[in-house]
Amino acid sequence: MPGTELFGAEERKEIEDVLSTGILFRFNHNAQRNNIWKAKDFEAEAKKITGAKYALAVSNGSAAILAALASSGIGAGDEVICPPFTYIATIEAVLMLGALPVFAEIDETLCLSADGIKKVLTSKTKAVCLVHMCGGNANMDEIMKVVNDNKLILVEDAGQAFAASYKGTATGLFGKAGAYSFDFFKIATAGEGGILVTNDEKTYHLADSYCDHGHDHVGSNRGMENHPIIGFNYRISELHAAVGAAQTRKVPSIRTSNLKNKAYLQKELSKNSNISFAKLGDDTGDSGTFLNILMPDTETAKRTVDEFNKAGVGGFNYWFTNMYHFINQWDHIKNLKTASKLPIQLLGAPQDYNNLNLPKTQEVVGRLISFGIRCTWTEKEMSELAGKILACVEKATASVKA
Ligand SMILES: *Cc1c(COP(=O)(O)O)cnc(C)c1O
Repeated sequence: MPGTELFGAEERKEIEDVLSTGILFRFNHNAQRNNIWKAKDFEAEAKKITGAKYALAVSNGSAAILAALASSGIGAGDEVICPPFTYIATIEAVLMLGALPVFAEIDETLCLSADGIKKVLTSKTKAVCLVHMCGGNANMDEIMKVVNDNKLILVEDAGQAFAASYKGTATGLFGKAGAYSFDFFKIATAGEGGILVTNDEKTYHLADSYCDHGHDHVGSNRGMENHPIIGFNYRISELHAAVGAAQTRKVPSIRTSNLKNKAYLQKELSKNSNISFAKLGDDTGDSGTFLNILMPDTETAKRTVDEFNKAGVGGFNYWFTNMYHFINQWDHIKNLKTASKLPIQLLGAPQDYNNLNLPKTQEVVGRLISFGIRCTWTEKEMSELAGKILACVEKATASVKA
């Protein structure tokens, strides 16, 4: 989680600006706020990095993906193709809107594949919610072809892929709207925060209203604003936005360090032929937040994880058994356990979630072990880590032969 590694004077200064006026609210209060607009600053920084025409800062990444879907016109009864490997917020957002998740296969990019999407297309498919996992990028040329050929709406959850791109276009800007997270574990953090991006003016205005009770934000008299649509409250506070802005300014240098450190580790680990790496749609567009190791098979990956635990190697995720990122552990979603009735319970699920056939996804996630890259690692620390990883992999693979 590189953002948190660099928390310092810059973040403190931004927070103090807000405290100096006491205006913690992102709208209005023009006279009192001394021209301090941290949510707008955060949005401006996000636009600089992504090249998006419009950016909207919201309370968190989950709200950003919810608003991206809603402002793209996804709602009750719409079938949305989703990956079974993602942070669970993606699926929750689809369900909360009353839409119906349809799970499709990922591939070695750790993202939905064009073939996977094609296999689950029906006449009812309305949208694809693509997730750029583990800091990387999907195979966008192939995916855009399926999306365009079938006139689908594309929404991107780039929660983990801020500052990643594909052939020069930022992840999040291929479809109608995209979302990034700035929670405590991402490349930059606002404490809690999210950014929605789009190049479409109408989508932006819908999202802007959706995230603030439908207010159109025209003029500076809040009580007299119009409400073009029904919305809710997903606003970000000025304090969170202040931290988000300071952190986002650091992202280009974080990314440079990440990529350097990732390249170092990949080179060291390539010494063992049992270790390979997840693919990227575009190698040059990685954000470098994760080193994604692929073991030859699930059993070897599990043994490697055991060896890591025995040797005290930390800082990795084995998503296959992780409660929040992989469908195998999502019993509450498979069985639609809800606090109150959702549209999917009236409409019926489009797939039998308890009997999904996703062999490719099972294979890829079973083999995958991801290390979070630290941007402050020294070469000595990386060399030691690589040595430990190699030793554990040796042990995990030796025990097969014995
Ligand atoms: C982190 C993350 C989210 C959720 O973001 P929050 O800011 O924690 O709400 C959504 N999608 C993906 C892919 C994420 O990694």
